[in-house]
Amino acid sequence: MKSIFPEASGCITHRQLSVAFVQGSPNHGGPAWVFVASTPRSSAGHAQGILERLDAGEIVIGDGGFVIALEKRGYVKAGPWTPEAAVEHPEAVRQLHREFLRAGSNVLQTFTFYASDDKLENRGNYVAAKFSSQKVNEAACDIAKEVAQEGDVLVAGGVSQTPSYLSGKSEADVKTIFRKQLEVFQKKNVDFMIAEYFEHVEEATWAVETLKESGKPIAATMCIGPEGDMHGVLPGECAVRLVKAGASIVGVNCHFDPETCLKTMKLMKEGLQAAKLKAHLMSQPLAFHTPDCGKQGFIDLPEFPFALEPRILTRWDVHKYAREAYNLGIRYIGGCCGFEPYHIRAIAEELAPERGFLPQASAKHGSWGNGLSMHTKPWIRARARKEYWENLLPASGRPYCPSLSKPDSWGVTKGDAELVQQKEATSEDQLKELFQKRSQIQHRT
Ligand SMILES: [Zn+2]
Repeated sequence: MKSIFPEASGCITHRQLSVAFVQGSPNHGGPAWVFVASTPRSSAGHAQGILERLDAGEIVIGDGGFVIALEKRGYVKAGPWTPEAAVEHPEAVRQLHREFLRAGSNVLQTFTFYASDDKLENRGNYVAAKFSSQKVNEAACDIAKEVAQEGDVLVAGGVSQTPSYLSGKSEADVKTIFRKQLEVFQKKNVDFMIAEYFEHVEEATWAVETLKESGKPIAATMCIGPEGDMHGVLPGECAVRLVKAGASIVGVNCHFDPETCLKTMKLMKEGLQAAKLKAHLMSQPLAFHTPDCGKQGFIDLPEFPFALEPRILTRWDVHKYAREAYNLGIRYIGGCCGFEPYHIRAIAEELAPERGFLPQASAKHGSWGNGLSMHTKPWIRARARKEYWENLLPASGRPYCPSLSKPDSWGVTKGDAELVQQKEATSEDQLKELFQKRSQIQHRT
């Protein structure tokens, strides 16, 4: 029997492993492991810091997407995609954090995506007036910190791109927006900061420079593909600029599927190597297949956001992603929109041989489907093996649907009039203009 203790994580001792179980796997002839179901924080109450873990060569598993998951559950509105559920329905946010923790996440990101002042009062959003951004950010920190007590996880405060930047506001104005969120993260003393979901490297570096004022480690991820940011700055150069601005961990999140994100990550890695810069690599892709996406990623797909289900990654797709990300040298491996707890568990299960343990949620999941050996029906028991699931080509069950779509590709970016932040709701006339524009563009192409 192989030993399982996470040696790189020095603060965890044998005594602290609260539950262990044996998972033999005779169905596919793999090694028998003892698995750790839960690894509470050290007696000092502090998990090791993010950089200590990565510097020691540990694999850090991120969490999955919140806005998409909570929209489906009725707590987030598609359109603004703002995180007021932290105040309105803390139990829903808490439960999702808890599920990611059970699935193997080592980091809980505060549910503060788009929780900047300007976004919370954009186009008729009532959140800024009703709750204030401070309250939303504080509630999100409190929930993440509370759940973090239940396991060996870090809490990361998160900021993302702002309507102010897209509206062409100054560097000082945009940094003021980030600073206001940062004040809450400092007060709540999160473990580190993540600047994520930036389409423009200029804004991402402004975010990193602002977060740097906290003295906390900074991870920075952009939602770009191999073509680079919206102004054509290539991934390698984006990574270099982020590191020079002060990020210790760089990479990509959202907008593209794992395959595309890993192509972008390879370019980032090469850019850093050419510039002789060192940084840890991080990837948090979509759990949607996006081979047909253009530069702007999945938001350009006609199915975004209400008909993306046929594109969802299976857990087996995630196994492949986790292995390829690891082979590329990425050690902070997580997910973004579409990533549910079972996807995160798939990362943890794929990398169990390297990490030496499995998450709590694996107690209800035999590796590579071997739990099906308990099934009543013999043809289902015949699926209790890696070879079956690894080689399956899943059907969509949709006879008249294409397998790929044509992205919208309007090419609208920073400085465009249609992106300018406005407090009042989008008017009927403004909408009509957009409906017409869409018809014109479709007729042209
Ligand atoms: Zn996302």
